[in-house]
Amino acid sequence: MLSAEIIAIGSELLTPTKTDTNSLWLTEKLNDIGIEVMLKTIVGDDGSRLEETVRDALKRSDVVITTGGLGPTADDITREYTAAAAGRALVYHDEIEQHLRERFRSWGREMPEINKRQAFVIDGAEILPNPNGSAVGMLAEIDGTLLIVLPGPPRENQPMFIDHVLERLRADAGTVYVKRRILRVSGLGESAVDEIAAPIYTGYPSVQTSILFNKSEVEIHIAARSDNELEAIATCDRLADELTKAIGKPVFATNGETMEQIVGEHLKRRGETVSVAESCTGGLIARRLTEVPGSSDYFVEGAVTYSNEAKIRTLSVPLSVIEANGAVSAECAEAMAKGMREYAGTDHAIAVTGIAGPGGGTDEKPVGTVFIGYSGAKGTKSVGLKLPGDRYLIRWRTSQAALDYLRRQVM
Ligand code: ATP
Ligand code: MG
Repeated sequence: MLSAEIIAIGSELLTPTKTDTNSLWLTEKLNDIGIEVMLKTIVGDDGSRLEETVRDALKRSDVVITTGGLGPTADDITREYTAAAAGRALVYHDEIEQHLRERFRSWGREMPEINKRQAFVIDGAEILPNPNGSAVGMLAEIDGTLLIVLPGPPRENQPMFIDHVLERLRADAGTVYVKRRILRVSGLGESAVDEIAAPIYTGYPSVQTSILFNKSEVEIHIAARSDNELEAIATCDRLADELTKAIGKPVFATNGETMEQIVGEHLKRRGETVSVAESCTGGLIARRLTEVPGSSDYFVEGAVTYSNEAKIRTLSVPLSVIEANGAVSAECAEAMAKGMREYAGTDHAIAVTGIAGPGGGTDEKPVGTVFIGYSGAKGTKSVGLKLPGDRYLIRWRTSQAALDYLRRQVM
């Protein structure tokens, strides 16, 4: 498999306000044709650092793509230093200059003399035309490595890449099929997942498997590559199935779906309905459930009962329950769920109450203490959790845990 690296050039990309998005777009295009990006660099407008970076890149990668720094001004140094790194001269092309002059004339202007710099091209390089700007791109083979030099603006480099680079790379890469899947796991930490998963995925050395933690859940990314499409699909699916079986119930999605999508699918399949009573999440669970198109089939109602009075008035939580246990308690969460289910007349109801912080924690119930209540045809129950994080994360993780609790009742 061919390895690529991308070098984004421009001092503005090293400021706090400007992001290198070219490499994201290029990475997607490269991955689509089975070329793996192994390294990305951002270099400011500094000649010696740029030359060194490109020289190293040419040594270690099959494909090197640079973006930016091809303009006419003195800070646009890409032409000069990529040529130096490649050990090639820059050659003047009169036809590029004449073409530029014509462009400027068509806008009713004379070409500024500094634009002449844009007529210089790495010796032996193929010239990549730029219908959307003044800088041409370049493609050259340097000792077996393909060097591709593109302008910085996305509206210039994207069409250039699609029209003049993509097919060339596709041919070089050969036919590579990539089949990807994302498994999502709730209720287990990253190390716990890896302990189960590693003995399995290490048996598939040709498949790229990565495990990452994402706000409230662990994701397993699988990418199987093969020159045979069916084999790529079969290998990917086999590994995904083995991992799903070994990890068990905590795997909530096997194709990258969100928790709310999965909960919705279960409810829809069973033809059942749900309502939600929320305290510390302030409506987040209802929002997530209703973000799924078609959720009106199963989502009936949500109540944000933030104060004790609201819990008593709307959900008929007995005052005695709150007085005896506090509003943040298993008893209150259960009473909220039961009251919500009776009020809304749904098959299932979930309720959350907790302390999102930063204030309000005690020794007995620190910030992050959360209770989730569930009420359904088989009865009412609850679970207590201690969630880490700031206010934002505690609220998000509470919503995820509540949806997961519901999922486990309706699976
Ligand atoms: P120009 O002829 O327009 O000067 P150039 O090749 O010199 O083209 P730069 O001057 O480096 O390109 O960048 C021009 C603009 O393109 C930047 O202001 C920025 O908006 C955009 N750009 C450059 N590099 C990137 C990048 N890596 N990701 C996203 N946008 C970029
Ligand atoms: Mg520029």
